[in-house]
Amino acid sequence: EQKSWKAAFNVMETLINHGYEAVIVGGAVRDLLRGHLVHDVDVATNAHPEEVKALFSNTADVGIAHGTVLVIHKLSPIEVTTYRTEGQYQDHRRPDEVKFVSSLSEDLKRRDFTINAMALTIHEEIIDLYGGKEDMERHIIRAVGEPTKRFKEDALRMLRAIRFSAQLGFQIEINTLEAIKKQAEDICFIAKERIKQEFDKIFISRYPKNAFLHISNSSLSQFLPGDYSHYEAWECFKPNGKSVKGWAFLTLLQPNHDASILSQLKCSNSEKKYVKAVVEAFQLLNDGGWTKRDYFDYDVDILETAYEFACQLNKNVKAPASQYDIVQIKSSLAIQSQQELAVSGQDLIKWSGQKGGPWLKEMLDRILNEILENRLSNSTEQIKEWFLREHTH
Ligand code: ATP
Ligand code: MG
Repeated sequence: EQKSWKAAFNVMETLINHGYEAVIVGGAVRDLLRGHLVHDVDVATNAHPEEVKALFSNTADVGIAHGTVLVIHKLSPIEVTTYRTEGQYQDHRRPDEVKFVSSLSEDLKRRDFTINAMALTIHEEIIDLYGGKEDMERHIIRAVGEPTKRFKEDALRMLRAIRFSAQLGFQIEINTLEAIKKQAEDICFIAKERIKQEFDKIFISRYPKNAFLHISNSSLSQFLPGDYSHYEAWECFKPNGKSVKGWAFLTLLQPNHDASILSQLKCSNSEKKYVKAVVEAFQLLNDGGWTKRDYFDYDVDILETAYEFACQLNKNVKAPASQYDIVQIKSSLAIQSQQELAVSGQDLIKWSGQKGGPWLKEMLDRILNEILENRLSNSTEQIKEWFLREHTH
């Protein structure tokens, strides 16, 4: 994002012109070195939050407890964070309170991995105290400092290392990986919501298999909800930018397609609903293929996803022959939605002279199936005729 870079440089310039230090830090520097500009550009400074707020007309206190002020620059909002350490770690989690420090080097020291611990000056020089540039070139994820100590401080870093291995396709350096194995159990201290966020990122990453291989091999799998023994299956997973697709795939890889992992990792109701539909459609396809009614019941996206997974996980899937066929078959159905049905429950009550009840839904369902199977046309007259005939039997 060119705009956020321009904005960040403007913000740095203002801070520097007022006698403060300011540099770009973290993921933006990492991604710049990879030739990617698609990132939030974060600024670090020795100015304290109140001082930052005094310099810019439009700011928001988004992360003030962590020393972060959001400067709402006209080109793009920029997070400006005061140099800090993380104070005392409790329960192997990042603390909520922070301690401001005066030097950039102290700020870089608390960062998780060497590739995330570089800074870029306004003169476009890289400040690299931990060999991040070399690790970038050699495609290595390496903890800053002593890895076991860093993971003891904050166990989420283990999962972050794994997530970066999936996003970047980098290797986790051997001592860093050993430390993950050693400290794996500490992942229990981390809030499920934060674990979910890392999974969401893994699901849209380029190399998800890297992540699940590490989760499986590091014994993190023993302390996380879910089963990771089928990590090889991720080799053929095609991320589509929506993490929910990954949740569906992970659910299919569970014994009996058990979806309890979704609740355990705090997925939303809409995510659960989507996964449930994909799993159902997947199973229907595996046990004999889809009926017209199945094509009617599920959205194209659900059918396509279930079909893709079925082809990947099951050698002999029955029709449709291709993704194109799904749209084709679905659009050639006699009706596309329940609302198009030419009769309502009210009509059936009127024609039969009976009171409403469970029979109504059952009958409407049968009518729908008859129409979808082209045994009955969707006209009120014809449906009435069919209904009266069926009803008197
Ligand atoms: P992305 O935004 O793609 O997730 P990022 O590197 O920007 O990647 P953030 O979570 O936004 O990651 O954090 C910004 C920076 O803060 C990181 O690059 C890293 O330097 C530091 N950081 C974040 N989380 C931790 C942590 N748990 N321990 C130590 N440093 C961290
Ligand atoms: Mg970021």
